[in-house]
Amino acid sequence: MNLDLTEDQRQVRDAVRGLCEREFAPFAPRWDREGIVPRDAVSKLAEQGFLGMAIPEEWGGVGYDSRTIVVVLEEIARVSAALAIMIAVHNSVGALPVFRFGTDAQRRRFLPRLVSRELAAFSLSEPGAGSDAAAIASIAVRQGDTYVLNGSKNWVTNGQQAGVYLIFARTEKAAGSRGLSAFIVERGAAGLVVGNPEDKMGLRGSDTVSLSLEDLRVPLEQRLGEEGEGFKIAMSMLDAGRIGVGAQALGVMRAAFDEAVRYAQLRMAFGQPIAKIQAVQWKFAEMERRIQCARLLIQQAAWLKDVGQPYTREAAMAKLYASEAATWVTHQAIQVHGGYGYVKEYAVERFYRDARVMEIYEGTSEIQRLVIARGLLKDGAAV
Ligand SMILES: Cc1cc2nc3c(=O)[nH]c(=O)nc-3n(C[C@H](O)[C@H](O)[C@H](O)COP(=O)(O)OP(=O)(O)OC[C@H]3O[C@@H](n4cnc5c(N)ncnc54)[C@H](O)[C@@H]3O)c2cc1C
Repeated sequence: MNLDLTEDQRQVRDAVRGLCEREFAPFAPRWDREGIVPRDAVSKLAEQGFLGMAIPEEWGGVGYDSRTIVVVLEEIARVSAALAIMIAVHNSVGALPVFRFGTDAQRRRFLPRLVSRELAAFSLSEPGAGSDAAAIASIAVRQGDTYVLNGSKNWVTNGQQAGVYLIFARTEKAAGSRGLSAFIVERGAAGLVVGNPEDKMGLRGSDTVSLSLEDLRVPLEQRLGEEGEGFKIAMSMLDAGRIGVGAQALGVMRAAFDEAVRYAQLRMAFGQPIAKIQAVQWKFAEMERRIQCARLLIQQAAWLKDVGQPYTREAAMAKLYASEAATWVTHQAIQVHGGYGYVKEYAVERFYRDARVMEIYEGTSEIQRLVIARGLLKDGAAV
């Protein structure tokens, strides 16, 4: 595995870094305070192709490989984790499944909108089915050329703004995970009732809503994949999504680390900047170690995906390690700030709140450990 970025990857990184610093960094604290990332921010990313990162050029996207995508997500998360999750969900579990599992007719109908302007949402979780996604209770009953969906979904990122929803429901009651199917649903469809945003601890600029499916009629041609393939589609997309969550965590912890180092060089205690105190330096050494370990695991998972090798276990390790490292690094960044880290005037307060959820969504840390252990027992340890 070559860890150097290619010239193309470097150019993309510099372009997105510039855009983030110019257009987003000054406003990210306000997005957090006001609980909304304005549409305009998404449009600016769309103009540069960042809504079509995983979609090949012949379908209107920019066709980045995974290593480029993680670089982009890390840069966005460095300034706004809320914007990063919106873009990550859209690309990895929203638009990509339409390309990967859609018919040509579905691709022609939905991809042009998704790569140019509209956000996508991924609706798997339910009040009674989170880690145990196979327990989904929402039902889809086929009536001729239409499915009628009823049930409740929750935790839908982008749910308020999305133009297109990927919704998972049960087409066969007794079949467990093999009884789930996926449906593409358009915003405004009769029977798709969008709830109010959750009042979250962090990622406050990104909306997370519940959906109520009330006799929602979905034409047969909007079923994604075969009947019964829903679970397989969801799990394969989450493998890729988890590398993206790792990249978001990496962006947040880098931002927290930079703030902590900057602050420590300015803050005086006992007649010297606290950066000169060994106990503080050791924190920086440990933060840096975890940041670099996370980066390596993320790059390994992305590289395996790019070269077409299995990467489920590596994606779980990258997500697990990076999210737990981000919680730790942001925690220490507050410690370095002392009392000032505990107030909203300093960015580390936001980073700490934003990082916490990364151990929860797209599979909790416990579920990642389960995935890693299962892979290990099946295929043996990696050498
Ligand atoms: C901000 C946010 C955004 C989200 N966005 C989306 C989205 O866009 N689309 C979507 O579909 N979902 C989304 N989710 C849902 C998220 O994926 C779930 O919250 C997550 O999978 C956990 O499910 P749960 O909350 O029901 O917890 P539970 O599954 O009830 O878990 C509770 C606890 O039990 C543990 N646990 C459960 N089963 C096991 C087991 N077998 N072994 C060990 N421990 C176990 C868990 O690890 C956890 O600690 C989002 C959640 C949040 C908070």
